[in-house]
Amino acid sequence: MAESKQTGISTIGLSQLSAINRVQFLTVAWMCVEVAVALFAAIRANSVALAAFGADSASELLSAATVLWRFRSDRHYAEITATRITTWLLVTLAMYIGMASVSAFIFRRKPEASYLGMILLITAALIMPWLGRKKRRLATAAGSTALRADAAQSSVCAYLA
Ligand SMILES: [Zn+2]
Repeated sequence: MAESKQTGISTIGLSQLSAINRVQFLTVAWMCVEVAVALFAAIRANSVALAAFGADSASELLSAATVLWRFRSDRHYAEITATRITTWLLVTLAMYIGMASVSAFIFRRKPEASYLGMILLITAALIMPWLGRKKRRLATAAGSTALRADAAQSSVCAYLA
């Protein structure tokens, strides 16, 4: 029988656990880059869209970090707490995107072209769907709603990009 670890309410294989840790570490690292570059480019180009993308990345960063914590903790409420946090982040993100697009429509500020921003968005559009797919597969295998919500964050990111 494969080695496994009791993580809160579910028991998952150690190889699965390390796969989840790897994916989440990768997400956290990439999100730090996204947040920094997006905000820098947003200020320089006066771009609402890039600022929204930066906020999305900050939300993703928190979400990924939460899931990372959830799979390191073996307390039984870890999955419940993590699910609550990641779901809440997803809802906040949806409201924020809604408001940002409405205000962009009303004010119609014309942003300058940002090459830095474009490179960032293209890179994100390539990386995030791949990360999202990986997370969805792992979420199903581990039976983790928190990880599934985090996978949705990755999909939103790819969509925004
Ligand atoms: Zn993102």
